[in-house]
Amino acid sequence: MRVLVCGGAGYIGSNMTAMLAQAGHEPVVFDNLSKGHRAAVGRARFVYGDLADERLLSDTLNKYAVDAVMHFAAWIEVGESVQFPLRFYKNNFCHARNLLAAMQDAGVDKLVFSSTAAVYGIPQTVPISEDAPTDPINPYGDSKLAVERMLRFQCETGRLRYAVLRYFNACGAGDGRRLGEDHRPESHLIPLVIQAALGKREDVKIFGTDYATPDGTCIRDYIHVDDLCRAHLLALDALEDEPQIICNLGNGTGYSVREVIDTVRAVSGRSFKVTEAPRRAGDPPVLTADASRARTRLRWRPEYTDLAPIVESAWAWHSEHPNGYAE
Ligand code: UDP
Repeated sequence: MRVLVCGGAGYIGSNMTAMLAQAGHEPVVFDNLSKGHRAAVGRARFVYGDLADERLLSDTLNKYAVDAVMHFAAWIEVGESVQFPLRFYKNNFCHARNLLAAMQDAGVDKLVFSSTAAVYGIPQTVPISEDAPTDPINPYGDSKLAVERMLRFQCETGRLRYAVLRYFNACGAGDGRRLGEDHRPESHLIPLVIQAALGKREDVKIFGTDYATPDGTCIRDYIHVDDLCRAHLLALDALEDEPQIICNLGNGTGYSVREVIDTVRAVSGRSFKVTEAPRRAGDPPVLTADASRARTRLRWRPEYTDLAPIVESAWAWHSEHPNGYAE
């Protein structure tokens, strides 16, 4: 299939682009390089463009005779979304609306959409299933949920078949450890701890040590980017038979912040300074996925079920790219 990968120069999008090509599909990357890296796209077809430009989107879908779209292009910083909500509704919601309009014009009816565990807000119970109430507590999660709702209504017109994949904590380096995580500024735990281990940061801060968890720090469900991308390929296939798919993507196993730090210490063999800091606003104590729906409906089986090999892949990439991608 010819697949337009919006945000294909970003962390997950670039991994997806590589996996699509390897699986015999033809990816076309569409990215404005505001957050992504040209070097991560490699030899895939690349269109430099912005999702604000509905005309360019339509032209691209027509020019390359695109069969399906995967949409990764979004802003993801929760703190920034709280400070500047309107930017998030514009980038995440309005641009997704433009994409749907262009798809409708071009008669492209298949979409796989990157959503997030942030649509659940503070869960009442864990692990979280897709039937849990959605109640985002920040503009980032709400902008993603708004897109989910728009997709549902567009699907009901018969013009769209879609898969919503709600990611838990994506991490690791994929495509044979060739494509890693390089956000600027970095805010994600695993790359931050690795940067401290590499001596690129003075310390690692633990945001909150007084949570009601066994070691007092937050627990998250870390899922390798290769496993995430495999679920997208399966979802693309499943859309041939089903018009609407909504699945969580996580391992179901939680690791605390302290466990992540210990794992990086063990994998890297380095020591570094750890500082206990106050809680970060809006962090639920525990977020783990019930991903049984993805297992049954998509026949998805994550290969990285332990944290150590996930961290090893990230460590390998960061050791080779201490300054991230070359610009
Ligand atoms: N975290 C931390 N120190 C940091 C960055 C993150 O203690 O410098 C914690 C954060 O509070 C959360 C977990 O690590 O409990 C994962 O955070 P991340 O930002 O990687 O992903 P999120 O769960 O927010 O999507």
